Amino acid sequence: MKVAIASGKGGTGKTTLSTNLASYLAQDHAIVLTDLDVEEPNSGLFIEKTLKYEQKRSRMVPVWESSTCTLCGRCQQVCNFHAVIKLGREIMVFPELCHGCYACSELCPHNALPMQPTPMGTLTASAAGGFDFIESRLDVGQEQAVPLIAQTLAHVDEHYGDEVIKLYDCPPGTSCPVIESIKDADIVILITEPTPFGLHDLSLAVETARKLGKEFAVVINRHGIGDDGVAEYCSREGIKVLAKIPNSRKAAELYSNGELMYPHIPEIAQQLEQVSQYIMGQMNGGEA
Ligand code: SF4
Ligand code: SF4
Repeated sequence: MKVAIASGKGGTGKTTLSTNLASYLAQDHAIVLTDLDVEEPNSGLFIEKTLKYEQKRSRMVPVWESSTCTLCGRCQQVCNFHAVIKLGREIMVFPELCHGCYACSELCPHNALPMQPTPMGTLTASAAGGFDFIESRLDVGQEQAVPLIAQTLAHVDEHYGDEVIKLYDCPPGTSCPVIESIKDADIVILITEPTPFGLHDLSLAVETARKLGKEFAVVINRHGIGDDGVAEYCSREGIKVLAKIPNSRKAAELYSNGELMYPHIPEIAQQLEQVSQYIMGQMNGGEA
């Protein structure tokens, strides 16, 4: 079972839910939590962990071989991302724009653009309290999150079998990194906050999940602030609200100290139990 925890906007509690849920579920199940927010991973701040291994990750980009190039310009024509251009008697490649699609390299009639690895980030695997934790982090200056997310997901699939529940702490928003993170998930849990901003971005996230044909449900964080707009929207759209995590000063203090909340706040443990029952219900082929 692959469970993606996503949100239309940042700061709604994605990491709070991911880390608390991973620890809560790990009491009875084999769990691996993966932080896919590779531009700024922060799940690790809330988890006590011991490093198991670290791997440098690279992606493939074309490198120009001037000696065999005839300056025909075909590479520039086939690149959809303007990552390779012909400038006078030179071919220039912009690695930060390259999506590694191989088109220019494969279609160059003279093999003058061989693909070569370029470093993009680091993957680490750790043992956390009762579960495994995978984190990938882009190197400073790298702009392409999708290749590192794809490699991280492949790594998780390679190292953990179907008996392990895979939780993904996804990047915020609804753009390519999020699509890559949730496209293979069995269920998507959208976390939001009960404010007009939360509602606006939740509606975008719902649209994305529906377009991808995903089973999804909502968790409302900081329940008690804001208004009823999110609850009314979910009711109107027939969207299941799995849990409402209460807003409290205690929760804010625990968050600020980088601590898990459910061991200290029984109401949050109760809400996590509802999320857990939903996941178990989906694993058994239907809702709990
Ligand atoms: S397609 Fe190949 S041969 Fe043609 S300009 Fe590009 S690199 Fe040179
Ligand atoms: S590999 Fe694809 S994205 Fe990268 S430069 Fe070539 S055509 Fe453009």
